[in-house]
Amino acid sequence: MSHCWTTKAIKEIQADYQRSSDTHLIRLNLPTFPGIHLYLKDESTHPTGSLKHRLARSLFLYALSNGWIKEGTPIIESSSGSTAVSEAYFARLLGLPFIAVMPSYTAKRKIQEIEFYGGKCHFVDHSAQIYAESERLAKELNGHYMDQFTYAERATDWRGNNNIAESIFRQMQMEPFPEPDYIVMSAGTGGTSATLGRYIRYQGHNTKLIVVDPENSVFYDCYRQNCCDIVSNCSSKIEGIGRPRAEPSFIPSVIDDMIQVPDCASVATIYWLEKLLGRKVGASTGTNIWGALLLANQMHERGEQGSIVTLLCDSGERYLDTYYNPDWVKNNIGDISLYLKQLPNLCSYK
Ligand SMILES: *Cc1c(COP(=O)(O)O)cnc(C)c1O
Repeated sequence: MSHCWTTKAIKEIQADYQRSSDTHLIRLNLPTFPGIHLYLKDESTHPTGSLKHRLARSLFLYALSNGWIKEGTPIIESSSGSTAVSEAYFARLLGLPFIAVMPSYTAKRKIQEIEFYGGKCHFVDHSAQIYAESERLAKELNGHYMDQFTYAERATDWRGNNNIAESIFRQMQMEPFPEPDYIVMSAGTGGTSATLGRYIRYQGHNTKLIVVDPENSVFYDCYRQNCCDIVSNCSSKIEGIGRPRAEPSFIPSVIDDMIQVPDCASVATIYWLEKLLGRKVGASTGTNIWGALLLANQMHERGEQGSIVTLLCDSGERYLDTYYNPDWVKNNIGDISLYLKQLPNLCSYK
C-alpha cells in the first residue's frame, strides 16, 4: 500500500519535471575584454524562482527512494530562504504537510512565499537553534527532517541526468569557446559547487571551478586552512550564501580556488547588472559576477581569450525592501559607490 503511494509520488515529480523546461544560458559581451565571453545560467526562471528548485526536487526524490517519506509524512526543513519555498512547492504537489523552521526575525515576504505554497512557518529565537529544533519537531510529529545542509551534495546525481553541470556544458556546445575556462559559483549548502566540481572531473574537462564567498562566512577560511571546525557568530548578509559553520555539503576538494568578495562589491554588481540585463537579480548573483569579472580581467591581462560561466541564482524582486532599498543598503551593507566606480562599462548585453 505505502509502496504504491511512493511509486505514485515519484511519478508525480517526474511528470512535473516533464512539464518543465531547462533554464536559459545568457551570453553577456565584454567589449573591454575582447574575446572573453561571460555566460549566466539563469536559475531564476524555475517555477519557484531559484536554483533551489533543483535541490528540492532532488531531496524529495532521494528521500522517497530511501523510504524516508511515506503517505502523510510531515516534511520539516531548517530554512528561511529559497529552499523552504521550493520544498513547500513539492510538498504540496505530493499532498504532504510542510513546516519551515526559521528565526522569528525572518522577513515577512519570505514567510508569505512559503505560505503561498501551503507551507507553515515555525519560529525560533536564534538562527543557531534551527537545526536542533527541526530535528526535535520531526521526532515529535513523526515527520522527516530534509536537512538540506547534509544531503544537498549527495541527493543530486553528479554524473549527469541533466544536472546543472551537464546542462551548462550542453548549452555551451555551439559557442566559440565551448569549454569554459572557469565556472564561478558561491556556496550556501555547497551542493551546487559539489555537483559542478565532480562533473568537471568526471568528464575530464579543463574547466576550473572557482567558489566565491561573502563576508561573515567560514567557507573561505576552511578552504585556505584546510580545516572544517571554524565557526563564526555572525550571519552572512548575502542571502542564500555564506555560512557561520562549514556545512557537510561543502566539499573543498572539488574546488580549484576561492575568492572572497566584499558585500559592497556584491551589491554594487547587481545595480550594474540591472542596467545591462534590464532586470533585478539577488545579491548572491552579484557575488558570482564580481568574481567572474575579476577572472575575466586576469585572463585579459594574460592576453587570453575564452569563456566564463556563472549562475544567476534568483530574481531581485524578492529583495526590493533590502538590496534595492538604498537606505537599507547604506545601513546594512555600507557605501557601495567605490565598487560602482570600479565596474566600468565592461559589457553590453547581447
Ligand atoms: C542556495 C543559494 C545559493 C547557493 O547554492 P548552494 O547549492 O546551496 O551552495 C546561491 N544563491 C541563492 C539565492 C541561494 O538560495
